[in-house]
Amino acid sequence: MNYISTRGAGIGERHTFSDILLGGLAKDGGLYLPAEYPRVSADELARWRALPYADLAFEILSKFSDDIAPDDLRALTRRTYRADVYCNVRADEDASAITPLKTLGVEGGAPLSLLALSNGPTLAFKDMAMQLLGNLFEYALAKEGRTLNILGATSGDTGSAAEYAMRGKSGIRVFMLSPHRKMSAFQTAQMYSLREPNIFNLAIEGVFDDCQDIVKAVSNDHAFKARQRIGTVNSINWARVVAQVVYYFKGYFAATRSNDERVSFTVPSGNFGNVCAGHIARMMGLPIEKLVVATNENDVLDEFFRTGAYRVRGAAQTYHTSSPSMDISKASNFERFVFDLLGRDPARVLQLFRDVEEKGGFDLAASGDFARVREFGFVSGRSTHDDRIAAISDVFARYGVMIDTHTADGLKVAREHLQAGVPMIVLETAQPIKFGESIREALGRDPERPAAFEGLEALPQRFEVLPSDAERVKAFIATHTGL
Ligand SMILES: *Cc1c(COP(=O)(O)O)cnc(C)c1O
Repeated sequence: MNYISTRGAGIGERHTFSDILLGGLAKDGGLYLPAEYPRVSADELARWRALPYADLAFEILSKFSDDIAPDDLRALTRRTYRADVYCNVRADEDASAITPLKTLGVEGGAPLSLLALSNGPTLAFKDMAMQLLGNLFEYALAKEGRTLNILGATSGDTGSAAEYAMRGKSGIRVFMLSPHRKMSAFQTAQMYSLREPNIFNLAIEGVFDDCQDIVKAVSNDHAFKARQRIGTVNSINWARVVAQVVYYFKGYFAATRSNDERVSFTVPSGNFGNVCAGHIARMMGLPIEKLVVATNENDVLDEFFRTGAYRVRGAAQTYHTSSPSMDISKASNFERFVFDLLGRDPARVLQLFRDVEEKGGFDLAASGDFARVREFGFVSGRSTHDDRIAAISDVFARYGVMIDTHTADGLKVAREHLQAGVPMIVLETAQPIKFGESIREALGRDPERPAAFEGLEALPQRFEVLPSDAERVKAFIATHTGL
């Protein structure tokens, strides 16, 4: 499998899965994609239906990473997708499914269900890919005799998923910046209670944007970055995207009886990483009818899929909402889909994303390209705070199921795209305990708390408070790497 950049650099060069695993953007600023998507045969699809999650992951990942020895890859997927890691299931769910499908009911003639992706250590779907990444990184670094220092900024979900994936891994340290005293008590406790010596929580005296600016400043110091072997695990990482392809297959098998049926998926979206994986599953031949992109008030993606105009927002137009993990102003994985939409023409992708930098966006309405969006199965919708509060209380009243605010956005939008006879699977991206305030607003009661999280907030916490100053962060990193 060879990988190419969406902007065309390195055409004719060879990039394997391992080559791009530890990197970020391609050198021309584009994103990596396979030179062509592997197709799944009818025989394979039939055989995969009965596989446990870890072995299904092996089958799918091996099509994208033929440079990793099959025995090694199988060991990695079996180590990652274990019932005792994805153990935070509700009483009526089966942890061995890893991503259990929860049937709600039939609405508008469509069987409606939730695919539970948030049973991992941090109770959000990011664990699905990040746990694999931790094991892949450790494997790749050991092979090359290298070490890696991961630097990141978080306002919640990503940082904790990264820390729980990398804790105790040899050859890896994590330096995670978060805004001091600005995260919820639950999220703070989740990250700061980790005791592994390779995890460093840096509480920055500032807001999330300050943390992000520091990460950018440190990354732009190329000499420092090289000397300190700094890397990232952000949402454009290809291995994260491809790991997410697996649960679209798993969800399809759980919602159907035969491979002649089609299903639709609704995906609560921010950076377009999750639904990009759905797009790839569909390109591989999984019978997906629609991919429904659900946004919150930050509706840059909904606007594109309705009108063809992609207009990124400035900080002042990026709203803080009650589904905060979808509060994005530009969708970092979107370029991967645009590349396919434009018939894989890197020169046009380069031009369009230059327009994003220079003019704040582009509009495909006038060209014939936008019409093809529907051929790729994409539709969309948006949800507001009132919509998600209504969805949480409706689903609880009707089905006795408590959902979080992001999943509620998905459910609200899914209901606008139901088709009789086509199962609709809403991806459940987090558990309600992470967003207790909205649950209390919707239901007048506290969210359910998985047993493993009893007393979390009372555990001792480990973190270092630093001023919002890139030089101080650099000094901290250098002292603790000894490089
Ligand atoms: C990250 C996240 C999303 C958005 O996923 P993208 O891949 O960025 O589109 C949705 N819900 C939750 C709970 C998340 O943590």
